[in-house]
Amino acid sequence: MDSRSRKNDELVGIMDSSKHIFSADRRESLVHELKNRKFDLVVIGGGITGAGIALDAATRGLSVALIEKMDFASGTSSRSTKLIHGGLRYLKNFEFNLVKGVGKERAILYRNAPHLVVPENMLIPIYSNGTFSKFTTNVGLWLYDRLASVKKKERRVMLNAKETVAKVPALSPKELKGGGFYSEYRTDDARLTLEIVKTASYNGALCINYFTCVDLKMEGDLCAVACRDELNGETITINGKQIVNAAGPWVDEVRKIDAEIKEKTILHTKGIHLVVPKERLSIDQSVYFDAIDGRMVFVIPRFGTTYLGTTDTVYSGSLDSPNITTEDVNYLLDSVNRIFPEVNLNQSDVISSWSGLRPLIHQEGKTPAEISRKDEIFVSDSGLISIAGGKLTGYRLMAKKTVDLVCKRLDLVQECRTDSVRIVGGEFKTEGLVRAYITNLKTRMKSFGIEGGEAEILVRAFGKQTDTILKKTRDFEEDKLIQALAWFCLRNEQVHTLADFYIRRLGYLHFYPDRIKSTMNLVASVFASYLGWDESRIQQELSDMQDHLKSITEFESDHGEA
Ligand SMILES: Cc1cc2nc3c(=O)[nH]c(=O)nc-3n(C[C@H](O)[C@H](O)[C@H](O)COP(=O)(O)OP(=O)(O)OC[C@H]3O[C@@H](n4cnc5c(N)ncnc54)[C@H](O)[C@@H]3O)c2cc1C
Repeated sequence: MDSRSRKNDELVGIMDSSKHIFSADRRESLVHELKNRKFDLVVIGGGITGAGIALDAATRGLSVALIEKMDFASGTSSRSTKLIHGGLRYLKNFEFNLVKGVGKERAILYRNAPHLVVPENMLIPIYSNGTFSKFTTNVGLWLYDRLASVKKKERRVMLNAKETVAKVPALSPKELKGGGFYSEYRTDDARLTLEIVKTASYNGALCINYFTCVDLKMEGDLCAVACRDELNGETITINGKQIVNAAGPWVDEVRKIDAEIKEKTILHTKGIHLVVPKERLSIDQSVYFDAIDGRMVFVIPRFGTTYLGTTDTVYSGSLDSPNITTEDVNYLLDSVNRIFPEVNLNQSDVISSWSGLRPLIHQEGKTPAEISRKDEIFVSDSGLISIAGGKLTGYRLMAKKTVDLVCKRLDLVQECRTDSVRIVGGEFKTEGLVRAYITNLKTRMKSFGIEGGEAEILVRAFGKQTDTILKKTRDFEEDKLIQALAWFCLRNEQVHTLADFYIRRLGYLHFYPDRIKSTMNLVASVFASYLGWDESRIQQELSDMQDHLKSITEFESDHGEA
């Protein structure tokens, strides 16, 4: 065993021990440490970019603090299409190196988190009136397979019209010429981000949510980040030698705290997704097709639902809660109805939705779809390092680039090693072993008196940590699983509100809103006993959750954007 994998196994050992360094009730001691230490690096932002940077720096031996103003992953990193892309769409803009880079990254992530990164083949139906012919699709997918280093057995397959409809019977057969079948991977973006934050923590980083950077002082290698604790209003200062601003859509807000922005700025574009029940759009196969305006749209089956996305429009409204307009909704529904005409979806079929913002680097004269998704690093005169752009898929390379720069500025020579760091929960050598674990879990769950149908959902979210959750179900009488999940997340995942739990730890708001309604009183009581909530806090949390449940099917009628 080489030293890298040995270190990795040791980390897993820490995770399984009784330290519970990521428990919600350890906040006070965490704040105490943040106040009293000086860090090599302070990271602002707990989305995938900040999480990746914290993990990279911590595994190189740097002392790291990470602060997140809301919950981890509550920005764009829980609002994506949830795909670990090979980057097919970048071919349209001739960004060959980007396709090459993300293809390699996808393979690394699949190895390090095989429970969270799951192969998901895509079907591109080819219509005679569509953007791409059978020939261009074939050539495009051939190029994609090569550039993204797709394994031989996963490479594209071109289908005739009959084979295409056999895969997705709901597709319109009119003018259908055939289909291209190619390889993508899906994930749970919020869980991936959170597990990377946890992995960073098990490697020594101090990561805290509900902690906002409100001021910055940059003087050589003496930097101070003034932070407001959003849970009690107190302000503290964290001292560090280098500061990285990984605030995603808010990156310019943080840059402005430091100094006036002289160079490139961020352009926000909005993307929405809609969820419908599987009975209304019954597909077992993901489809990627031309929307009514020639953009490409995904339709993806997920645990008893189907979700549709996305849009790409310039946005200038609230960054904290990007809206969804009826125009956004109609655009997606009309696009889907065009190729699934028998289905005829309408607004009342939508059971949930989400809206996210892409922090893109502004490029004069380009439409949102034409702007590159490449990431870029800016260093201000005072030394604040800001990183923006990019994709979930490329987070590890973005982190490597950023931490290389941090090390250079600290005069340190430390190699990046995240290509071999397993993400918490992902201690499976192969995807086959994940499937075997799921099969075995189904049997074990029955012996615990729990319906085995949940096994796949649990393992795809929690990986090997499911063992701990299952054991804990013994302590509860009714709805044992949801109570054990609440306990697990309180103890290991820094949840402070019901929304943290239901939206980002479990993904229920988007895919199982009914389950929230039927369990939230019980879950609130588990939170109350763990965190010492009084009756008024319980009522406040339940009311906030009701607001979230209402918001997912409420859409604004005006544009609200440029
Ligand atoms: C609609 C849509 C679909 C997408 N689909 C995909 C996809 O399928 N695959 C893919 O690879 N990529 C996809 N992406 C891109 C990907 O989601 C983003 O590139 C990525 O999530 C950005 O992560 P981030 O960490 O930079 O930003 P964020 O996730 O937004 O994180 C930034 C964090 O900084 C915090 N913050 C802000 N200000 C402060 C402050 N003052 N103090 C402390 N914290 C602060 C915020 O609260 C936030 O949590 C998609 C993006 C969108 C919008």
